[in-house]
Amino acid sequence: MKLFKGTKLYSILTGNCPVCQNESMYKESNPYIISRLFKMHERCSSCGTKYKIEPSFFYGAMYVSYPIGLIFAGIAFLLAYVVLDLSLTTTYIIIVIEMVLLLPVIIRLSRNIWINFFMNYKKIEKK
Ligand SMILES: [Zn+2]
Repeated sequence: MKLFKGTKLYSILTGNCPVCQNESMYKESNPYIISRLFKMHERCSSCGTKYKIEPSFFYGAMYVSYPIGLIFAGIAFLLAYVVLDLSLTTTYIIIVIEMVLLLPVIIRLSRNIWINFFMNYKKIEKK
């Protein structure tokens, strides 16, 4: 992962601050602890970036979660229906289960991608 430091991909995959990438935006790094899924730090303690640019800023992440969900569903469809040659009904059930299981990951990924539309990485020396 260190290889990608300084790229948007690094911030998107790790959930780190989009500006300095020195620490996580989230209070809980594991997205499967559902009660803390949406808990984020207000500011980055390393560079002071305010994550929630405006009220309800992260509602915009919903627009991102749709294509992300489609990509995951598409991958599951190809694996189940085309590669494993399962029936359409089985494939559908697999996709539904996959969507439910991956929801926390998709939500986090969408937020990370959304905030990276608005903020860019700046190299900041660690104190
Ligand atoms: Zn930062």
